[in-house]
Amino acid sequence: MPQDRNTDEVPPETSQSGENTCRRCSGTGVVEDKPCPDCKGTGIVTVLVGDA
Ligand SMILES: [Zn+2]
Repeated sequence: MPQDRNTDEVPPETSQSGENTCRRCSGTGVVEDKPCPDCKGTGIVTVLVGDA
């Protein structure tokens, strides 16, 4: 099965979701001296976990 959703960001209320270090800013919350748009500067993104 293709794994093309591994970077998907989902709402926190989504089941089977969990927090993960933001890949875009490597958890720093900053990209090019600006707040990371992916994690809103938190360094953490909520993503789907597992596939079961
Ligand atoms: Zn980020």
